[in-house]
Amino acid sequence: MVFETKFYDILGVAPSCTPDELKKAYRKLALKYHPDKNPNEGEKFKQISMAYEVLSDPEKKAIYDEGGEAAIKQGAGGGGGGFHSPMDIFHMFFNGGFSGRKNERQTSNVIHTLSVTLEELYTGTKRKLALQKNVICESCEGIGGKRGASQKCAPCRGTGVITKVQKIAPGLVQQYEERCRNCRGLGETIDDKDRCKECNGRKTVRMRKLLEVEVYPGMVDEQRIVLKGEGDQEPDCRPGDIVLVVEEKSHPVFKRNGQDLLVFLHLQIAEALCGFRKVIKTLDARDIVIQSCPGEVVKHLSTKCVYGEGMPLMNDPTEKGRLIIQFVVGFPDSLPPEVVPEIRKYLPTPQPDPIPEDHETVEMMDFSLEEYQKASEEDEGSDESGSYSRFNHGGGQRVHMQTCNSS
Ligand SMILES: [Zn+2]
Ligand SMILES: [Zn+2]
Repeated sequence: MVFETKFYDILGVAPSCTPDELKKAYRKLALKYHPDKNPNEGEKFKQISMAYEVLSDPEKKAIYDEGGEAAIKQGAGGGGGGFHSPMDIFHMFFNGGFSGRKNERQTSNVIHTLSVTLEELYTGTKRKLALQKNVICESCEGIGGKRGASQKCAPCRGTGVITKVQKIAPGLVQQYEERCRNCRGLGETIDDKDRCKECNGRKTVRMRKLLEVEVYPGMVDEQRIVLKGEGDQEPDCRPGDIVLVVEEKSHPVFKRNGQDLLVFLHLQIAEALCGFRKVIKTLDARDIVIQSCPGEVVKHLSTKCVYGEGMPLMNDPTEKGRLIIQFVVGFPDSLPPEVVPEIRKYLPTPQPDPIPEDHETVEMMDFSLEEYQKASEEDEGSDESGSYSRFNHGGGQRVHMQTCNSS
């Protein structure tokens, strides 16, 4: 005998009901009186929630059965009588957190690659993604069929798994769990005639969902963008996340190194010796002009940098890294012999090597250091030795080096 039946009456169940019956009663009423559907039934929704919160908790239920609502409101031993908000109860219930199970189940996270250009990582962008996901079937509200038609699966006793015992040696057995074949792991079965036509008893349907993702300026390769709870839905289960992994596409002009951008700038020998003005198109399509100082000679493979023209910082996009410029000076293949003495006048005088009387002159052939290194790298296997070397190797920009004794 219970002290009073008010909470049971609110949920429309008998005091002798099973936890499953209680859950079903709450599910039905909570969906019916949820403020989304019934904005004027707030009080009713609250009562349903309170009744369910008490009756679904064995400890609180015992107190209620003995002393009724007054005893529960006094709070067991004082202090502990607080109630969750009706919305909390609702979400805990439908997200599986209220099932009383210790392990809160969650559907697995779904991982996708989000391929973005360096321009997009510089300016930031919004991306629309169309993804397929499982959502709870609206037609049967995730029950899989007619209300009350589902029956606890007998072979697995509603757990969805069957424990099997295997003899692995005399006197030694191993226990393992197998998904129940009778109910396909669902823990319950529904007669063909009662099965939901929409989802065919699967409780979920496949849906195409359009998601908008924000790529922020300064995001980096392999960074994860987490869309919380956008993964597959499943009844009595917290939905997992959709995780997008940023994949930075390589850029034909700029190489990124953290916050810095690296660029090769090709100069003619005349520009390297006599000065230059060059335009660089930035990743946000601005034109910036760089120039040499009067009289300055730019050496082959020398580097300079421009502050504030690198990649934006993710935490503060107004802050930017450096633009590092490496000059690649193109030399002419030959010069008209008659101008050589004239040019020589303006160049530092080389100190010629003393040539011993007893010597031999040998012939030099063309040689590609790049190909040479590629061949030895293939021998050793890939050896990543830091980003700067990657920069140097990138895009076949390495220039053939020749050493030559002065003649
Ligand atoms: Zn359905
Ligand atoms: Zn089963």
